[in-house]
Amino acid sequence: MIAMGSNVGDRVNTFDRALQLMKSSGLSITRHANLYETAPAYVTNQSRFLNSAIRGTTRPRPHELLKKLKEIEKDIGRTSGIRYGPRPIDLDILLYGNSKINSETLIVPHERIHERPFVLAPLVDLLGASGEDGIETSWHSLSKCSGGFFELWNKLGGESIIGTETIKRVLPVGNRLLDWSERTLVMGVLNLTPDSFSDGGKFQQVEAAISQAKLLISGGADIIDIGAQSTRPFAKRLSPNEELERLVPVLDEIMKIPEMEGKLLSVDTFYAEVASEAVKRGAHMINDVSGGLLDPKILKVAAELRVPYVAMHMRGDPSTMQNEPNLHYDDVCKEVASELYAQVREAELSGIPLWRIVLDPGIGFSKKSKHNLEVIMGLESIRREMGKISIGASHVPILLGPSRKRFLGEICNPANPVERDAAIVAAVTAGILNGANIVRVHNAGYGADAAKVCDALHKGGRWED
Ligand code: ADP
Ligand code: MG
Repeated sequence: MIAMGSNVGDRVNTFDRALQLMKSSGLSITRHANLYETAPAYVTNQSRFLNSAIRGTTRPRPHELLKKLKEIEKDIGRTSGIRYGPRPIDLDILLYGNSKINSETLIVPHERIHERPFVLAPLVDLLGASGEDGIETSWHSLSKCSGGFFELWNKLGGESIIGTETIKRVLPVGNRLLDWSERTLVMGVLNLTPDSFSDGGKFQQVEAAISQAKLLISGGADIIDIGAQSTRPFAKRLSPNEELERLVPVLDEIMKIPEMEGKLLSVDTFYAEVASEAVKRGAHMINDVSGGLLDPKILKVAAELRVPYVAMHMRGDPSTMQNEPNLHYDDVCKEVASELYAQVREAELSGIPLWRIVLDPGIGFSKKSKHNLEVIMGLESIRREMGKISIGASHVPILLGPSRKRFLGEICNPANPVERDAAIVAAVTAGILNGANIVRVHNAGYGADAAKVCDALHKGGRWED
C-alpha cells in the first residue's frame, strides 16, 4: 500500500501522472482510496494537500520499490526541499504485505501512520475482504490483523471528521474539488429522445432543449444530465452514431450558454464512443446506466478522459432487464452492493481511480417495485455491504434516480407519468435521508427544494440556531 500526497501545482493531474508512472514501472494497481483534501501538518503555513493511497501487487522487493518511487517523485519534479514542506508529490510505502522492515532508509509499516488522519483515512479505504496481495483485511479481523488501523482511525474521529477543515473527501470534477458532503447535489435530466417515456419528442429541437436546460438550472440543478438514448424497458437501441447525431448539436449549444457557468454537464450514455466525443466537447462526467456492461470499452475511455464515471446497477440490458430471471433477489441491497462492487473493481482495474467513481443503485432497472422501495430505504445497508469488501467503495457518492419511474405510478396510480412530481419528491426525500448524495430528477425545482429541506434536517447547517 502506497500513500500519495501533493500540495504544489495541479495536484489532481500530478496524481494521475503518478498512477501512470507507478503502473509503467510494473506496479499493478488493484485498489484506490478516495481522494482527500487535507490541512497541512507539521509545517502549517503552506497550501492544502491532496492525499490518497493505492493498493497493488509488484515484483520489486521493498528497497527496490522505494527506489522506483523516488525516481517517480523526481520525474514529477520533486526536489529536496524542507522536511514536511511543499511538494508536488510524495509517495510513501505504508505496508508491504505483512513485512516488517527497519533499515536506515526504509521503515515498514511506515513510521508515522498512526498520528496522521491524512494517511489513515486513505489507508482504511483500502481495507476490506480480499487476500489478493497477502494483506489480511477481512471485516472481522480488521481491528486486529491490519495493525489496528481501523481502530486508530476511529480514535482520531473517523467518519466524524470527514468534511471538516482537517480533511475533506472530494470528487475532482471540472476544474474543482467537489466536497459532496456539504450538500446534496441535484442532477437535472435533459432527454433528447423522441421515444423517451415521459417527455418523448418534446425537446427534439435544439431550441427546446436549451430552454429546458435553462429551466433546470434556474430550478437549482447543479448538473445537467444529457442523454439521447432511451433506456426505458423495451426501447429501441440507437447506434453510437445515431446517438451522437442527436446529442452533439445540443451539447455544443449548451456549453455556450452563460447559465452553465459553475454548473456541470454529464453525458448519459453506455457507449464508449459517445462518452468520448461528449467529453471532448466539454462534458464533465459520464453517466453509464450499464456500469460498463453494455460497452466494456467505456471503462478504458473514462480512465483516459479522467472524468468522473457513474456506474449504475442493472442486470441485462434495457430490453431484458425486466425479464423474470433478472428480477430475482434474495436480498436486493446485498446483491446490488456485490454486483456494483464487481463493476467498481472492473473500473479500477481499467484505470479509473475510485476517487472518480459515483455509484447508482439503479432504481427502476431490473427491479420490481418492492426492490426499488427496499433500495431507497436501504442505501446505508448497501454501503455497509460494500464496506465488507472495500471500505473505500462504501464511501463514494451515491446517485439516486427515482424520478418518473413506474413504481411510483404503481403506488399512486396516476395515469400520466409527468404528474408524479409529488410522489417523486417523497421518493427523493427518503433517498436523501437514507444517504443519497446526488439526486437525478426531471423537475429540478422540486428536487432542489427537497434537497434543501433534507440537508437542513440532516445537518442543521445554517439553521443551527
Ligand atoms: P515524508 O516523511 O514526508 O515522506 P520524505 O518523503 O522526504 O518525507 O521521506 C524521507 C525519507 O524517509 C526517504 O528518503 C526514505 O528513505 C525514508 N523512508 C523511511 N521509510 C519509508 C517508507 N515506508 N516509505 C517512504 N520513505 C521512507
Ligand atoms: Mg516520502
